[in-house]
Amino acid sequence: MTTPIKVPFVNLGQQFKDHESEFMQAFTSIGRSGNYIMGEALQSFETKAAEFCEVKHAIGVANGSDALFLIYKALGIGPGDEVITAANSFIATAWTIVAVGAKLVLVDVGDDLNINPSSVEAAITARTKAIVPVHLTGRPANIDHLTAVAKAQNLHIIEDAAQSIGARFNGRRVGSLGVAAAFSLHPLKNLGVFGDGGLITTNDDNLDKSIRLLRNHGLRNRDECQIWGYNSRLDTMQAGFAEIKLKYLDKWNEKCRKIAHYYRNNLQKFVITPFDKVNEYAVYHNFVIICGKERDELMYYLTSEGIETKIHYPIPIHLQNAAETLGYARGDFPATEKFAKCMVSLPIYPELTQIQIDHVVSSIKKFYERS
Ligand SMILES: *Cc1c(COP(=O)(O)O)cnc(C)c1O
Repeated sequence: MTTPIKVPFVNLGQQFKDHESEFMQAFTSIGRSGNYIMGEALQSFETKAAEFCEVKHAIGVANGSDALFLIYKALGIGPGDEVITAANSFIATAWTIVAVGAKLVLVDVGDDLNINPSSVEAAITARTKAIVPVHLTGRPANIDHLTAVAKAQNLHIIEDAAQSIGARFNGRRVGSLGVAAAFSLHPLKNLGVFGDGGLITTNDDNLDKSIRLLRNHGLRNRDECQIWGYNSRLDTMQAGFAEIKLKYLDKWNEKCRKIAHYYRNNLQKFVITPFDKVNEYAVYHNFVIICGKERDELMYYLTSEGIETKIHYPIPIHLQNAAETLGYARGDFPATEKFAKCMVSLPIYPELTQIQIDHVVSSIKKFYERS
């Protein structure tokens, strides 16, 4: 008997072990510096992150949700305003709009699982202030089309880039495609730290200044408060770890793209697999396959083969309990609702071994060939 192959959905500890001595060095040097809030490592990471995303400014914040919230605040988006985003996303994309007092306007997604630009166009009213495309699964949303729509109506594009750091559209990095972008450094994201963290990018000098004030109590300096603010900073220690990981990010993303390529080549006979359109460079935060009614059965079978899978996301935002007061109903967003029933995310991360990848492929093959 050979030992069964296990393929967990993530393996965060492995990445830590692979670079442990570097992390320990940062831990020691920041620990000894005694400078744990707004320390040098934060500025250093912000400079590197701005370079990486090919933008003028990067601002570390407490988490990806705060990144969205602070962008809205800095842009003055609030009560009386409408913000349009996708019905298929992580819930933070939605609640941050609600949290600033704006009206959350949801629209359907396209085959790329990203916001459908034509649906966006149809949802615009005189009160619309911003469009929030989510680069879901690490795949860039169609910014060309959205930019054309936004320009014509004088709207902001705010990227929810929480799942997609490193991805490109028309050769340009996500984070540089709108007025500002929000990234998450949550451990499960492509660039994850060892706790919560977030990042905002922008090319706008005024927005950069406002966000820097807002994240730190509105303080201009130690004693003078310019505006009412928040406490939402990225810890110096986490920034130090993020800077180390940033060096490897392009390599890790390439590795995920290779795994995606391999999955695609071997699985497209059985299920619909994601691919890069000509102007896209996706980083495959998730590898989402679309199957049919057999989805739950497939997931059950893969579990029995030691393979962990997830659904991103099983309950569309408009059908969540929290969204009841928005007045949406089942049937409003057919693509989103269809995908919720028939998509599955396969394990994909740089630390996967070829044995594990092959086990995923052969198990899915076995499932479809026997049924
Ligand atoms: C993770 C995520 C967020 C929120 O980030 P946190 O750091 O967990 O607050 C927002 N939007 C999307 C699409 C995400 O995946």
